[in-house]
Amino acid sequence: MEGLIFSVKRYSIHDGPGIRVTFFMKGCPLSCKWCHNPEGISPCPESVLRISRIGDREFSRLEMAGKFYTIENILEILEKERVFINQSKGGITFSGGEPMLQPDFLLDALKACVSSGYHTAIDTSGYAASESYSSIIHYTDLFLFDIKHLDEAKHYESTGVSNTGILENYRLLLKSGKDIIVRIPVIPGFNDDHDHLERLKDFIISTKTASLKMISLLPFHKIGSSKYKRFNLSYRMENTEPPSEEEMQKIKELFLETGIKVKIGG
Ligand code: SF4
Repeated sequence: MEGLIFSVKRYSIHDGPGIRVTFFMKGCPLSCKWCHNPEGISPCPESVLRISRIGDREFSRLEMAGKFYTIENILEILEKERVFINQSKGGITFSGGEPMLQPDFLLDALKACVSSGYHTAIDTSGYAASESYSSIIHYTDLFLFDIKHLDEAKHYESTGVSNTGILENYRLLLKSGKDIIVRIPVIPGFNDDHDHLERLKDFIISTKTASLKMISLLPFHKIGSSKYKRFNLSYRMENTEPPSEEEMQKIKELFLETGIKVKIGG
């Protein structure tokens, strides 16, 4: 069995505890306006234009985004990093795109990683069949679970999908006994108004179980905007500025009222 992956990040320190290897799996059912990995959205391999500069000269070449990996390929990569992973109490994270879009490969990869003694994490938008989550729960130590907006209409408008199933899956995982870190992208003009943040805080309080270990606030940034040019896509966040440190601190203080640890960043 093979999985389609568009990037492998070694020495990752933002996708779960310790030093990790993060596999970015290709394909996402959402189309968030702020996505900084647009090359991860299509579920197929695609050629992208890579532009590099030396002095004032510009060079461009086509390269493929998306390569098929076997479970053995995954384990070989992990084995090379085992010392760092073990010493730092790290592990492996499947991110994307949306890793749940390749459920059979993901399940086999998780089983193989668990058998080899690795801590496993899934970074998910929450948008997948609840049966797919049920099938991987046993082999997943940590879920990094995105909550973007509580209003269905607003969620739909900016991500292209409803949030109903996402919130149901969140409740399902909260009862699983597995560790969960909620990730909230803080997107100016979308989900950062006081009323919505208050409601989100109340939602987290009313649903929390012992599984919920942390809230990560991910401030909007424009680092991925150059990729849109390379993909010949229009970047819909050109006129949006990142939230200030002061604003992020205020939001952090609000979410500390949940009684859960809060961190700014992944
Ligand atoms: S869920 Fe993540 S990967 Fe998918 S479109 Fe949104 S930001 Fe991009």
